[in-house]
Amino acid sequence: MKGMIKKCSVCGEYTLREEKCPYCGGALKNPHPARFSPEDKYSKYRLALTLSARKGKD
Ligand SMILES: [Zn+2]
Repeated sequence: MKGMIKKCSVCGEYTLREEKCPYCGGALKNPHPARFSPEDKYSKYRLALTLSARKGKD
């Protein structure tokens, strides 16, 4: 699949490798994270919980 470029989280080099950085062997991450990631979803829930908790206390 084309366009699946990744970025090394250690040295910052870009690569098309899937598993690890060919330069330093570091872990790779997606330089363009999906807009709707599970983390975003959970952070929304956390924010809602925080807001409702604060509302109840005040
Ligand atoms: Zn690297």
